[in-house]
Amino acid sequence: MKKVIVVGAGLSGATVARLYAEDGADVLVMDRRATLGGNVHDYVDKNGITVQTYGPHIFHTNKRQVFDFLSRFTEWEKYEHKVLANLNGQLVPVPFNLTGLYQLFPKEKAKRINDLLVAQVGEGVKVPILSLKSHENAEIREFAQFVYDNIFYKYTKKQWGMPPEALGEQVMNRVPVYLSYEDRYFTDEFQYMPKNGFTALVEKMLCHPNITTKLCTDASKAIALKDGKIYLDGRAFDGTVIYTGRIDELFSYRFGALPYRSLKFKFITKNLTSYQPSAVVNYTTDKRFTRISEFTKFTCSPKNKTVIVKEFSRACGKKSEPYYPIPIEQNLAQYAKYKILANGYANLKLLGRLANYKYVNMDVAVEDAIALHDNNPLIVE
Ligand SMILES: Cc1cc2nc3c(=O)[nH]c(=O)nc-3n(C[C@H](O)[C@H](O)[C@H](O)COP(=O)(O)OP(=O)(O)OC[C@H]3O[C@@H](n4cnc5c(N)ncnc54)[C@H](O)[C@@H]3O)c2cc1C
Repeated sequence: MKKVIVVGAGLSGATVARLYAEDGADVLVMDRRATLGGNVHDYVDKNGITVQTYGPHIFHTNKRQVFDFLSRFTEWEKYEHKVLANLNGQLVPVPFNLTGLYQLFPKEKAKRINDLLVAQVGEGVKVPILSLKSHENAEIREFAQFVYDNIFYKYTKKQWGMPPEALGEQVMNRVPVYLSYEDRYFTDEFQYMPKNGFTALVEKMLCHPNITTKLCTDASKAIALKDGKIYLDGRAFDGTVIYTGRIDELFSYRFGALPYRSLKFKFITKNLTSYQPSAVVNYTTDKRFTRISEFTKFTCSPKNKTVIVKEFSRACGKKSEPYYPIPIEQNLAQYAKYKILANGYANLKLLGRLANYKYVNMDVAVEDAIALHDNNPLIVE
């Protein structure tokens, strides 16, 4: 039987483990955490509320293949995500849309800007804030500057620890303004939450006779890389290792630690049926935290208690969790050096957000895992 070791029991690792197990491979999944699911881990608290350990995770995709694959392991509950921004106490939709325009500007001015936007940019379109900021019409530019200052600038600075301009246009170009009344955060075809949570979904994926899962097991202690060969517990390993951990850690930080943003979560249980009007409220002008999420808003079972989490963004030190890779040029160059080292190991495959130093949504994590499997068929003896 071909042997596959998967480092990491997150969504990337669980997907690829399942696919190779179904091919007949003998798959060992190891994770240093005591829990399954990596960052999508969730649990039901003593009040029956599903809480997501690593912050709010909402599934959304246009990829039917991914949706169909995950649907083998869960039933779904329809959920359409809505986010508000708190601008010094006033709540407006995120992404910013025409509702926000009429909330924040005097009626006549708002109508004039609305007409200008429709005539000169388009009706119902999603448009990057940077392109509005550099529009040839002065009134559109002034509007865009207001939105940029109040919705994006301070929030981005809090989130990334650097002003938006330092992040490069690529990141800011992902931030849209909706020239419509669309108030859903995502517009994807499939928007659902797994009925029994993400941990249950991953548990079901890993429940296969060919998969052995070892938690509280650190791969850096079991696996060693030397001169193009992989060693498991000191013995040469000729199977395949699929690694979803940090690439810099895999090579003992030889070229330095890759920079990440980390988060501190403050969970609070409240004796309320509802704390805020939407599942997530971003604090875009004040407060030290970036946003508050309310978990009871993700499911359709209101309780007489609710759980919120405040997120504080910070630099990633040695003891904090790496959450967001910082995709600026110098970091990507540092990553490329590690990638060259990894390429020297034919039976090592990198997968997921830490190994590829790339933020991926859950659907892309699953899609990448399916692609890795499909592009690397095992001939099982
Ligand atoms: C705050 C936040 C919110 C997000 N919200 C959304 C959302 O709303 N929607 C969405 O689609 N996506 C969201 N994402 C992205 C989502 O979390 C990722 O797509 C997904 O978790 C990627 O899974 P992964 O398996 O690649 O990585 P991870 O989930 O990080 O799993 C990697 C696993 O590897 C283990 N590991 C690492 N090194 C070792 C080692 N040496 N030995 C053993 N185990 C090891 C880790 O313990 C971890 O369990 C969010 C991400 C963050 C940070």
